[in-house]
Amino acid sequence: MKSSAEIRQSFMDFFASKQHTIVPSASLMPQSPGLLFTNAGMNQFVPYFLGTEKAPYSPPRAADTQKCIRAGGKHNDLEDVGYDTYHHTFFEMLGNWSFGNYFKKEAIEWGWELIVDVWGVPASRLYATVYAPSEGDPSSFDQEAYDFWAALFEKKGLDPKKHIINGNVKDNFWMMGETGPCGPCSELHVDLTPNGDSEGKLVNMDSDLCIEIWNLVFIQYNAEADGSFRDLPAKHVDTGMGFERACSLIQNTKGFTDFSQKPSNYATDVFQPIFRKLEALSGKTYADIYPESVESDKSQLSTEMKEAIAFRVIADHIRTLAFSLADGILLGNTGRNYVLRRILRRAVRYGRTLGFSSAQTFLPELVDTLVDEMAGVFPELKNRAAAIKENLQREEASFNETLDRGLAMFEEEVDGLKGQLSGEFAFKLYDTFGFPIDLTQLLCAERALKVDMDTFEKLMEQQRELGRKARTQQLVRAADIATEASTEFTGFEEDSSSATVLEIHTQ
Ligand code: ATP
Ligand code: MG
Ligand code: MG
Ligand code: MG
Repeated sequence: MKSSAEIRQSFMDFFASKQHTIVPSASLMPQSPGLLFTNAGMNQFVPYFLGTEKAPYSPPRAADTQKCIRAGGKHNDLEDVGYDTYHHTFFEMLGNWSFGNYFKKEAIEWGWELIVDVWGVPASRLYATVYAPSEGDPSSFDQEAYDFWAALFEKKGLDPKKHIINGNVKDNFWMMGETGPCGPCSELHVDLTPNGDSEGKLVNMDSDLCIEIWNLVFIQYNAEADGSFRDLPAKHVDTGMGFERACSLIQNTKGFTDFSQKPSNYATDVFQPIFRKLEALSGKTYADIYPESVESDKSQLSTEMKEAIAFRVIADHIRTLAFSLADGILLGNTGRNYVLRRILRRAVRYGRTLGFSSAQTFLPELVDTLVDEMAGVFPELKNRAAAIKENLQREEASFNETLDRGLAMFEEEVDGLKGQLSGEFAFKLYDTFGFPIDLTQLLCAERALKVDMDTFEKLMEQQRELGRKARTQQLVRAADIATEASTEFTGFEEDSSSATVLEIHTQ
């Protein structure tokens, strides 16, 4: 069986052989304004697409594995994690790029060559999607992409009409965020049904029996802030393949020969070492079982299923947390920092499902396993391991101080309750016990309850208003101190109280 490290390397070797420069992953801290985290391989290349900088590679082609986080923002996969086999908050995106160099023909033919000829995925299990717009959409039917895929399927004796599927703007027009470089795309999906006979019916249906593996984007527009699309000075190729999905396909099908078991990203050597460590810490055993769908009624899950989900959520979240901390993104109360704090608190709550108590912090204990597995490719994990553990330790211990009391009060409140939890109570959990609202919503979903969000939002707005007033006073006081002594501005600290606070150190 090929290891994940070998699979990653085979991708790099393939594109190096096609004259691509192999570049390092960019930081998870995005360079483009408006993104919470780096969410795709193309993020670091935006200036080359816009034409404001020239790609420094000769020929102008690159390939890499990019650390991505999709929690919050335009691409938010947080709710699916643990419930399906193939969405994570943190994942690696393998990619190859052409900066005004090759275009659709090479992108499609090389994608096929790697997947079918090098890795050995049976062509009969592949579906390609092409962009087929409705009226008013920004681009026209992608006949070129259709023709290139059609020739490849035909060569294998397969009917292109059955294997090429029209896609709409939602699935086949890729955008990084509300603005930025974008374009029509063409994706490869793999049929994972035991007999490979789903006939394209499961493509883009949120089914883990047919998953999207690779997206080839033909970047030719910039989405402007006013909603219009401007032609870019040149045409580019931007591809992204989910690394964990590739590992799952190769490892869990005995090299594509046995599809009797549904492949899962969690059954690969990317996640298994974390599960082994979690098992050792918790005394529980991981089972690779999944609910019917991500929308499954959370109040009807068996204990066994809840534990399986908890294992997966924790293994996912520790990667997001550790990699973010390694890139210097801390946990805090606003923006991306609060997304991370929410993710940590969610993980700590799921830890209760595995029997961890407030007397025991478990997240820092997982860091060494991650370092052992991943530091070869991402040395920042090893270099920052001490700081990662220290931050996790502090944050987990701090939430442990209020989590159990909050959970006990929640149990009391929902005992016999039907319909919805009051916004006042959700706010109290937030304000007094540090429960992010999505955690309260999750707890409620597990009891078939909803949260009165209107009232919750009103109370939040009132609190923000009070905070704004208090901060104005604080700044006035700080200005007084500044005139009295020689001062040194040491920057904004994102990690304290309810908002960014101006720190003034008097000498
Ligand atoms: P999906 O439809 O499965 O949510 P996507 O269309 O949102 O994927 P793209 O934006 O096209 O994904 O990203 C390129 C590739 O990255 C996808 O084809 C997939 O293999 C992988 N990918 C996307 N989101 C995730 C995720 N949350 N976890 C793991 N891999 C992902
Ligand atoms: Mg998606
Ligand atoms: Mg998709
Ligand atoms: Mg896609």
